[in-house]
Amino acid sequence: MIAIVGGGPGGLTLARILHVHGLDAIVYERDAAEGARSQGSMLDLHTDSGQAALRAAGLEQEFLAAARREGQDHRILDHTGNLLYQEDTPDDAPMLRPEIDRADLRDLLLRSLPPRTVRWGSVFTHADGQVLHFADGSTATCDLLVGADGANSRVRPMLTGTEPAYQGKVVVQGAIHDADRTAPELAAMVGRGNYWVFGPDRMLGAQRNGNGVVQVSISIQGPADVDPAAVTNLPADWAPQFRRLLAACDEPFVVRPAYLLPIGLRWPRRSGVTLLGDAAHLMPSHGEGANQAMLDAVELGLAIAAHRDDLDAALEQYETAMYARTTEVAERSAMVAELMSGPDAAQKVLRFFGGADAVVD
Ligand SMILES: Cc1cc2nc3c(=O)[nH]c(=O)nc-3n(C[C@H](O)[C@H](O)[C@H](O)COP(=O)(O)OP(=O)(O)OC[C@H]3O[C@@H](n4cnc5c(N)ncnc54)[C@H](O)[C@@H]3O)c2cc1C
Repeated sequence: MIAIVGGGPGGLTLARILHVHGLDAIVYERDAAEGARSQGSMLDLHTDSGQAALRAAGLEQEFLAAARREGQDHRILDHTGNLLYQEDTPDDAPMLRPEIDRADLRDLLLRSLPPRTVRWGSVFTHADGQVLHFADGSTATCDLLVGADGANSRVRPMLTGTEPAYQGKVVVQGAIHDADRTAPELAAMVGRGNYWVFGPDRMLGAQRNGNGVVQVSISIQGPADVDPAAVTNLPADWAPQFRRLLAACDEPFVVRPAYLLPIGLRWPRRSGVTLLGDAAHLMPSHGEGANQAMLDAVELGLAIAAHRDDLDAALEQYETAMYARTTEVAERSAMVAELMSGPDAAQKVLRFFGGADAVVD
């Protein structure tokens, strides 16, 4: 039996790929039930990674039905309110990086699995050999344990002592629910997709979700326990509409400190245990983490299917390719993170988006 700890995009995609290839797996997920926790904002899934994974999983049509093409729209402004760049997605634009609500992605994957594949409310604590232990005292056995349990993985310590380190940057997140009704002017200002405002010391982001929510966030350098009120209290030279956007947020702001694993992290090969997704390569959140987690899942699932009688060979094949691919992607994500920070971030991002031609006069 293959045990997958974690029912995020990576873990569920792996369970689906295994199912497609006639292999059983159980996903142990700590959430008490499918809808127990808000899944947060949107994910943009790329043609050659997240979408490729869904094609391999036989779920391309389901994805296209749930994906939001218009979520690819971008507006970039400076903190005084000047619109620097705008890109509206035509109705027939290719679905290169469409957005999907995390909850829709989870639903889509869950519906594709046999009943009882996911064991909700299973909080993995540790393993003795191939015996898995859960917080409620229950145990289970497996032939292969896959840690798909995200940034704070409990499986990772079985393979490496390396832990994610704080990068000195926090994201403070809020949300406007039912935004078209509760804050129509602000919802129109944000538009259908992504809205970025660059100031000298912080970046304000807003993003339209499929469920009527506008997510609002501020990224800033600072201590991990920063006071959200200090971050959302914008400096005097920010235009008033950005203050109104923050004031319209209708739930307490949440502080998310950015922790990262070192780029190129590897571990000594160990029979019967491996990692995928954020558990293996937590990288800056610039549109790659879920995509890579899902690609990991496909590559691991196919390796297991090809070497079902020799799981060591499957892990060897998977880990070798995964290290090379995700190291390159993490280096690129670190470069994008650098691009989006510092007092000249707006200019750097504009150049990235196509130079002067792209700029709104
Ligand atoms: C603000 C933000 C925006 C992002 N935007 C994007 C984007 O647009 N595109 C993109 O590709 N990536 C994006 N990312 C990154 C992306 O969210 C992650 O990389 C992705 O979710 C990783 O998937 P995963 O399956 O590895 O782990 P996770 O999604 O973290 O899933 C882990 C699962 O394991 C469960 N779990 C944890 N511990 C245990 C335990 N002990 N026992 C049992 N279950 C457990 C959790 O409940 C969870 O369901 C973003 C990240 C952030 C923070």
